[in-house]
Amino acid sequence: MQNKKYVYLFSEGTGKMKELLGGKGANLAEMTILGIPVPQGFTVTTEACNKYYDDGKVIAQEIIDEIHKTMTKLETISGKKFGSVENPLLVSVRSGARASMPGMMDTILNLGLNDDTVEAMAKLTGNPRFAYDSYRRFIQMFADVVMEVEKRNFENILDEVKEAKGVKLDTELDADDLKEVVKKFKAFYKEAKGEEFPSDPKLQLIESITAVFRSWDNPRAIVYRRMNDIPSSWGTAVNVQAMVFGNKGETSGTGVAFSRNPSTGEKKIYAEYLMNAQGEDVVAGIRTPEDISTLEQRNPEVYKQFMDIVHTLENHYKDMQDMEFTIEDGKLYFLQTRNGKRTAQAALKIAVDLVEEGMCTKEEAILKVDPKQLDSLLHPAFDAADMKAAKVIAKGLPASPGAACGKITFTAEEAKERAEKGEKVVLVRLETSPEDIEGMVAAEGILTVRGGMTSHAAVVARGMGTCCVAGCGDLKVNEEAKTVEVNGLVLGQNDYLSIDGSTGNVYGQAIKTVEPEITGYFGTFMAWADEIRTLKVRTNADTPRDAQQAVKFGAEGIGLCRTEHMFFDENRISAMREMIVAKNEAERRKALEKLLPMQREDFEGLYEAMEYRPVTIRFLDPPLHEFLPHEDEDIRALAKEMGLTFEELKATVESLHEFNPMMGHRGCRLAVSYPEIAEMQTRAVIEAAINVKARKGYNIVPEIMIPLVGEVKELKYVKDVVTRTADAIIKEKGVDLKYMVGTMIEIPRAALTADEIAKEAEFFSFGTNDLTQMTFGFSRDDAGNFLKHYYDKKIYEFDPFAKLDQTGVGQLVQMAAEKGKATRPNIKLGICGEHGGDPSSVEFCHNIGLNYVSCSPFRVPVARLAAAHAEVKNPRK
Ligand code: PEP
Ligand code: MG
Repeated sequence: MQNKKYVYLFSEGTGKMKELLGGKGANLAEMTILGIPVPQGFTVTTEACNKYYDDGKVIAQEIIDEIHKTMTKLETISGKKFGSVENPLLVSVRSGARASMPGMMDTILNLGLNDDTVEAMAKLTGNPRFAYDSYRRFIQMFADVVMEVEKRNFENILDEVKEAKGVKLDTELDADDLKEVVKKFKAFYKEAKGEEFPSDPKLQLIESITAVFRSWDNPRAIVYRRMNDIPSSWGTAVNVQAMVFGNKGETSGTGVAFSRNPSTGEKKIYAEYLMNAQGEDVVAGIRTPEDISTLEQRNPEVYKQFMDIVHTLENHYKDMQDMEFTIEDGKLYFLQTRNGKRTAQAALKIAVDLVEEGMCTKEEAILKVDPKQLDSLLHPAFDAADMKAAKVIAKGLPASPGAACGKITFTAEEAKERAEKGEKVVLVRLETSPEDIEGMVAAEGILTVRGGMTSHAAVVARGMGTCCVAGCGDLKVNEEAKTVEVNGLVLGQNDYLSIDGSTGNVYGQAIKTVEPEITGYFGTFMAWADEIRTLKVRTNADTPRDAQQAVKFGAEGIGLCRTEHMFFDENRISAMREMIVAKNEAERRKALEKLLPMQREDFEGLYEAMEYRPVTIRFLDPPLHEFLPHEDEDIRALAKEMGLTFEELKATVESLHEFNPMMGHRGCRLAVSYPEIAEMQTRAVIEAAINVKARKGYNIVPEIMIPLVGEVKELKYVKDVVTRTADAIIKEKGVDLKYMVGTMIEIPRAALTADEIAKEAEFFSFGTNDLTQMTFGFSRDDAGNFLKHYYDKKIYEFDPFAKLDQTGVGQLVQMAAEKGKATRPNIKLGICGEHGGDPSSVEFCHNIGLNYVSCSPFRVPVARLAAAHAEVKNPRK
């Protein structure tokens, strides 16, 4: 039997092999086919990574042998030899998962150097400074990434050598200085690890590949995967690529290029580079890079070749490319290409432009924008009135658009802590590193002192849709004193900063923010999404204001109005409380009389806001005690208002206590106990519809939804109350009004008996919040506290309350939908749990044939696009 192949030369792969070779590996293979000058190498597959984990975090000997064998082939291709003291082959070792995860995993450059090969490099290039510069970088990277010796230690040594020499920049150190640095680095390594720095290139290679596999599971990669729906089962590939050097002197350089502007989407090549540098210098933002236009003067030939390759790659992939390139002694190489991360604005502009340029179809363009990204467009910009008094105190690079305002925080940890306490914070850093990811997620905005548009902070912030201003050199950050000084103005951690990621402006004050609108490219793009999709999108809204906002965002109806939310209002809650503490039906009816006009008025407002669109109104659902006063002081006040004694009311409140309210007296159970509640709500729904129809002429068909049903007879009981009441009103008023009665499917028993339930229900709406709670047996209010342990231990990879668990809960949904249709073929099916706005869950709903999803107003555009994605991938039309 032929052994499984775990290692592929770039020349053995193709662009289609992303699952096996990872995105980077597949693209390197494709670039090789296209004839782009790519330093050659090989890819260790994602299957090797998975095997590494399956085998208990060791690389199997057969894979190690295959790696060494392939290295021999690379030696032949490159004409160099790994570990040779005459013409040594040096390589880079980089991660490359199926989906790009910038900065989340580890990279090692210059591998293959030791005390002998470094001398060979020095001789070969006639440039000992370059050789020793590469060597010291390698020692530091290997020690940090592979052996976990913190790089800060090496940076300190380097600083000491520079200080002793009285220079500021690394480039001011000569070969002898760097030799000294190497000696000190190795001595430090020996002290820290108790052994010599490994000099055998083969060992260095296997250790480095192991480190990259290991980094697939580092905490920042896990956080990133969870945020981006990347399953851990994908694993990462590892690319081993022959080194080319951008730090060989003044005719060498390195840079990063985007075929279009990643921030605005403008059709103009956007690239930055540094001469005499390695890639990490550009990305880490330690030196601020130059614009590519200056390369034209420096080396017109290379510039032209560069521009040609960028065009070739964009035309080939039919999308904006993000590329790394290196010039070695005047010769240009492309080290990688991938579809570039971009801001939401840029994503929309690029998608629309590509269709208009004839590069792709609308369907292809739709798939180029990640639905989740739209979220950032729905986020605030600065309020124009407030801006009049705003004073710019500094300016940086506009790295990721949007506006943010918050109190200053200096570390990622603190940003996370303060945000958890509900504070709005702006994270201010010299530069960010991948460990800062959680703080960056928590912050309103990110401001860095150093770094260009392609620095870590900029790339990550754009991916997250968080506002970011980078490279703001006017700031003097004192992390210890927790202050930042800008031209004499000193601000501390309780002061506000506002930043504008579209202009790069920084303001030393709080500025109000406002919500954006769907216009321009956004409007065009969303119109295409609507043309394509077959799944309808409704909204969960309880107030006319939310309903109007949702309509602006494209909602096609209300899928859930939670009527209890209408009673939390300060001047309504006492009527509600009276209803709850009523001792008998007569008292309850008296309180319900007070609630009726309020409820009717609310429904009129909703119907008017939605005009002709359908509105689903859910009857009272939550445990009643949520409305009761708990503090003695409040009980006393309410008792007074109701003409009761404190003791009397307190006793009633205590009698309403439930041990497990989520599974207690809530949902349709309330209407079973007290049908007069359902009567009042029916009256409000029907009378409001009659009134609005008379006033505006809208042909409203109210959809009354009974929650938390688990048994058809309980639904029938409540439905009978509803129809009796509604029919009497309609008859009495002599009007022609249709209405529907349906139910939520949110209890597993309802899903299991959906065929029976459908006999009484004209529609189902899946309440996947409760259905998830009851299927997992996880309290929706408490699960957050312990689920983090499940993520750490990889038992669950995502929050089932945010993303539908398709295997378990989804199975119930699908089964109930099928059973419902079997009984009532034209039954209307929707979902109104939080999952209605989550792209992968929306796709699931499309695939199982639901009619609509319903989500909060701000997620409506996300759901519209997700529904279009689903249609393109799995057409129903
Ligand atoms: C649900 O349970 O999914 C639902 C939408 O209802 P609520 O969140 O109000 O319980
Ligand atoms: Mg519910």
